[in-house]
Amino acid sequence: MEPGLVEKEDNNVAPSLMQGQIAYLYKNKAFGIWNNFVLASIFLAVFWNHLPSQKMSLLIWYGLILTLSIVRFLMGKNFKINRQYTQDELSYWANRHVFFTTLLSTIWGIAGIMFFPQDLIHQVLLAFILSSVLLAAIPTLAASRLAFYFQIIVILLPTISLLLLSEEEGHGLMAFAIIILGITLILISTYIYHLLFELQTTHIALQALADTDQLTDIANRRHFDRKFKVEWRRAMRDQNPISMMMIDVDYFKKYNDSYGHQEGDKCLQAIAKAMGSITNRPADLSARYGGEEFAILLPATSQENAAMLAERLRKKIENLNIQHERSSFGVVTVSIGVSCCEPAWDFTGKTPDEDQKVVFPAMLLTAADNALYVSKEQGRNQVSEQGCGDQKLSEALQKNANADLTAA
Ligand code: GH3
Ligand code: MG
Ligand code: MG
Repeated sequence: MEPGLVEKEDNNVAPSLMQGQIAYLYKNKAFGIWNNFVLASIFLAVFWNHLPSQKMSLLIWYGLILTLSIVRFLMGKNFKINRQYTQDELSYWANRHVFFTTLLSTIWGIAGIMFFPQDLIHQVLLAFILSSVLLAAIPTLAASRLAFYFQIIVILLPTISLLLLSEEEGHGLMAFAIIILGITLILISTYIYHLLFELQTTHIALQALADTDQLTDIANRRHFDRKFKVEWRRAMRDQNPISMMMIDVDYFKKYNDSYGHQEGDKCLQAIAKAMGSITNRPADLSARYGGEEFAILLPATSQENAAMLAERLRKKIENLNIQHERSSFGVVTVSIGVSCCEPAWDFTGKTPDEDQKVVFPAMLLTAADNALYVSKEQGRNQVSEQGCGDQKLSEALQKNANADLTAA
């Protein structure tokens, strides 16, 4: 069954939309145990004395409902709310939830036939309990609208069929009442589904706005920092290298002074656009790090490839040919620092082996920053590299400190 919330939406919104919905579903998974426990216990209490010959079947049915809701809960424990899942992984999680919920609903639906009471009061009670089960299944809407409609059918259809087939007086009317209930539930759930959808879409739009730099329309620092953490963890899991570029516009203060702030802004926009054109993979992220400084995150990329991309970017910006009379290059240029780390140890987890290298996210940032500093020092408009924890790191730091002292 296809997860319903992504049926009609465009590809950019769909994964985040689904991520939010499925995360919500799994965050509240304990709810599923409690409502099944409470409703099945009420069912047992209501029918225990009414159906003295079926006590054994009632107990087996009760045990089945409890076991299945516990299994569904335990299966959901592996879902990590804060992890960024791919579309396929999310579909898998959504389908898993739908599968268990449908299994539970079927067992509830079967109860409608197996324990069908003869007197009106108990029939009304049965209808009430079954509709409560359906109401409690409303969170399934988050995974799929069709899945919820399916729950309505498997829970109510057995009882409705039994009532329609029976010749007894009043049973037809009872079936009619339950059909009305089912239709009302379909209408209400459609309404709730649209409401959920709109809320989630607004939430995503607002989040996108909060994550975007308004001048250049690329990711802002906030977005970059968050993505960096996620990608670092992924690199650690997949044992992949992760690279970074720090980019700083050369003599930009002089550019502003010569051509005005507005032209300066246009220049930053052109640079951001050039950055977007050199990164191709979906996981790459270009961001405005602050002022006239930019950063590019390159997951699963070696230092060699990152340096190659950096050189391509440097050239591309030089070739934009934006006049800069007060720069020794005559045009706007950038200096770039490239770094690469292989995240080696999750410091939130176990202690590392003795000979295992410990690599922290800050080391990638520091190395890129130092490499950028080296590019500036060596004359600007160039690319420098520095690996994680390289010897040059301390040298650059020393240089930095000396520069600060001279400036003071
Ligand atoms: P360097 O080659 O050493 O990087 O010199 P620089 O002049 O580029 O560096 P500095 O840090 O001295 O100056 C950065 C300038 O960037 C100062 C500031 O006015 C300008 N700037 C920062 N943010 C913006 C912005 O949003 N728009 C414009 N137009 N200018 C900005
Ligand atoms: Mg600069
Ligand atoms: Mg700067």
